[in-house]
This record gives sequence, C-alpha cells and structure tokens, in this order.
Amino acid sequence: MIATLIASLHALAGGDLSFAAGLLLLAALAAWLILEAIRSGLRVNAERVQARLAREKLRAQVDEVRLRCREAGPAQAGWNGLRKFAVAKKVIECDDVCAFYLKPHDGRALPAFKPGQYLTFQLDLPGRDKPLVRCYSLSDCPHQKDYYRVTIKKEKAPPDRPDLPPGAASSYFCDVVKEGDILNVKAPAGQFFLDLTKTNPIVLIAGGVGITPMLSMANAIVAGGSKREVWFFLGARNWREHIHKAELEKLAAKNENIRLHVCYSKPGPDDVKDRDYQHEGRVSVELFKELLPSNNFDFYLCGPGAFMKGITDGLESWGVPDSAVHFEAFGPATVKKKAAVPTLDETAHLAKILVTFSRSNKTVRWEPSAGNLLEFAAAEGIKIDSGCCAGGCGTCVVAIKSGEVNYLKRPDAEPDAGSCLTCICRPKSDLVLDA
Ligand SMILES: Cc1cc2nc3c(=O)[nH]c(=O)nc-3n(C[C@H](O)[C@H](O)[C@H](O)COP(=O)(O)OP(=O)(O)OC[C@H]3O[C@@H](n4cnc5c(N)ncnc54)[C@H](O)[C@@H]3O)c2cc1C
Repeated sequence: MIATLIASLHALAGGDLSFAAGLLLLAALAAWLILEAIRSGLRVNAERVQARLAREKLRAQVDEVRLRCREAGPAQAGWNGLRKFAVAKKVIECDDVCAFYLKPHDGRALPAFKPGQYLTFQLDLPGRDKPLVRCYSLSDCPHQKDYYRVTIKKEKAPPDRPDLPPGAASSYFCDVVKEGDILNVKAPAGQFFLDLTKTNPIVLIAGGVGITPMLSMANAIVAGGSKREVWFFLGARNWREHIHKAELEKLAAKNENIRLHVCYSKPGPDDVKDRDYQHEGRVSVELFKELLPSNNFDFYLCGPGAFMKGITDGLESWGVPDSAVHFEAFGPATVKKKAAVPTLDETAHLAKILVTFSRSNKTVRWEPSAGNLLEFAAAEGIKIDSGCCAGGCGTCVVAIKSGEVNYLKRPDAEPDAGSCLTCICRPKSDLVLDA
C-alpha cells in the first residue's frame, strides 16, 4: 500500500523525487494531526463521562446517607404493647374496600416505619369472649408525620361455602368502624419491607388488596426524592376492584421513574384501555418478559396465594434467583422458598416424630404433609388461639416443654425463649407442647 502511495505521489510530483518525499511528509504530518485531534477528542469525552458518573455516584451516596439518617432517626422506635388510635378519616376506596386514616389518641409523635410493614390490631368485637387479632399493611408513605393509613378489603365467604359468614375483622372494619372510633394497635412490624438506602431497580407486583405494601413502597421512593426505577404491576378484575386507582395514577403521572402497568382480567363495559388499565388479562411473568429490559431486578410481590405461587414459579423458571424475590402472604403462606421444602430424608425423619399436646393429654405422630403446628393441632381437635397465621401477631405462641422446632419463615418478632409461633413452624424432633 505504501509502495502504491509513493508511486502515486511520484507521479503527482511529475517524477520529482524530492518533491514527492515532501508531499509524503506533509501527508504523514496531516494524518498524525488528525489522529491526535481524534484521540484528544475521545479523551475529553471519556473524562466528561467519568466526571458525570462520579457526580451520579456521589449524589447516590449522599441520598443513601440522607435516607439512612432518616431511617435511624429517633422517631423510628415503636411502642410496646397496644396504643390507642382514633379513626380520623374513613374513605370508601372501591367495592368492599375502605381506607382508614389513624391518628394516635395520645397526640404524641408517630414513629416512621419501613415501607411494607404492617400494624397489628386487637379488636374487641361484640359477642366474642376474646379479642380478635389481625394484621393490616400500612398503605401510605412512611414519612407521613401525623397519621397511619391501612386499606382493608372485606373478605367474603369462600365461593364454595356461601353459607359461611364473611371475614369477621374485615367486615367489622368496613361495616361498623366509623370516624372517631378508638382502636387498639401494636407498633409497625414485619420483615417484608423495601430497603430505602438501596437504589437498584425494582419490580412491585400486586394482586388485589396486595397493593397495600407496594403502594407504601412506591410512595416512600417518591417522597424520598429518589429516582429509583420502579415497575409497578397491579392485577385487578376491573375498575370496581381497582384499589387506590387515582392515587396510583397520579404517582405514575408525576414521576417518570414509576412505570405503572395495570392488568384487568375482566374489564367492565365502561373500562377504557390505556385510561383505566394497560393490559387485558392477568399479571404474568410473560408480561414481564415482554416489558422489562432484563430479569435483573429485585421483585416484591403480594396478593392471593395462587397469584403469588404462579408468579414466583414463573420468576424461578425465568432464572431470577430466590434472593431477588421478596413476598408477603396475607394468610397462611402458600409460597414456600425452596429451603423450606423438606427433602425425602427429612420427610422420612419427620414421619417418625411424635408431638405431645400435654394439656390435652394427647400424643400423635407428626404428619409431614401438615403445613404447620397450628394446622396440625386444629386437625387433631386441639384449639390454639391464632391471629394472622403468618408469624406476625404472636397470638398462636405456645410454650415448648421439650423438643425443638424448625421455622418455615423467619418470625417477624422472635417469641420468648422456650416458646414457638405455631402458625409458622413444624417439629424438628419429638416435641411436647403446652397446649
Ligand atoms: C402481614 C399481613 C398484612 C395484611 N395486610 C392486609 C391489608 O393491607 N389489607 C387487607 O384487606 N388484608 C390484609 N391482611 C389480611 C388480614 O389480616 C385478614 O386476614 C383478612 O382481613 C381476613 O380476616 P377476617 O377476620 O376478616 O376474616 P376471617 O374471619 O378470619 O375469615 C377468613 C375467611 O374464612 C371464612 N370463614 C368464616 N367462618 C368460617 C368457618 N367456620 N370455616 C371456614 N371458613 C370460614 C370467611 O368467610 C373468610 O372468607 C394482611 C394479613 C397479614 C398477615
């Protein structure tokens, strides 16, 4: 190539060799100058990109420190036992769903909570000899200074048993509780929450009333001024069951980092696509594959048992690691992390275990297919008081006289030494329970 170039320059210089050499030198100089200019241009650009990245990193670190300070603030501490709260406002959200705005009756400060946590209510229902204990997730931003909000769906009788009464606590809330009433409430608790000091992108997935902890998470991100990427998928039958519709739409419209995708499984005649909902059908992993740029997100989900089972199974098949999937069950957990499923050897060991209910004077062989000690006791006709059935409220605690248990999920609050939360554990060895 160089020979061709020299030959061309030689020809151009009319056979004058020194003139051709001069031209060659000039061409080389020009090429060098161009290369240098390109190189310094690239260097300046790279430095600019690096400076931008450093600025972004610094900003994220400042945000993180700010959020950590807020989280560690004095208001974080809860309270012991029950505290009285007045219902300051009750709002009908949609069919069979009400939101309750609660203010502390003592007028003192409200501790912040972590988005995703819940309140435990001890309700004195007429005609009951014992208080009823139920948990409800906090549905608003943790940094609200003067109220807590819970959003409660009245639980109907199961479709195959319409003869049964509807849910006791949820009906009481929706039908009886009114503004000005006083309720007994335990401090915010729960292990299912969003870490606001992180900035990684997340996917929030809600089915029906499972929207409550997710809305709190999304509100918390926005209130903290974070630009964290949030994909929010909500499944509802139609507009009539679309909980906190206006609030969610406003949140997404005002914050471009919140990408809202509402799926209606049975849109009504007045429901308008791209106004009320974005997709017809159920929330599914197929939809995530279509919309998300990758599976590299942390996924938070809450909804009915079947909904969560379908989504967690789908996420697993899509290659999402267990550690990136976080969920809350509003009742006995139907989604079990792999570690909680016993192996064949464990099942054989479990089948030999004897459980003694000492007060009831009954010893029975453990049934490995029984979900937990609470259900097992009930099947044996032994009554143990229970509340949330999810390891949160502590109502089902029973003293262990001898033996050990294994937990199916981490308790939200550790029971006293020598006791167990029967709704979320099973025996590890022969067991004697004070029940
Ligand atoms: C951590 C956590 C957070 C939660 N957050 C929320 C929330 O934000 N919003 C919300 O709405 N819920 C939430 N829940 C669920 C809530 O705590 C209650 O479980 C729910 O409201 C039902 O309680 P209930 O007393 O109304 O129903 P229950 O009285 O416990 O009845 C439950 C079901 O059993 C049926 N039933 C009645 N009698 C019988 C019988 N004899 N035999 C068989 N079945 C019968 C009822 O018809 C009903 O369908 C949460 C739960 C947990 C654990």
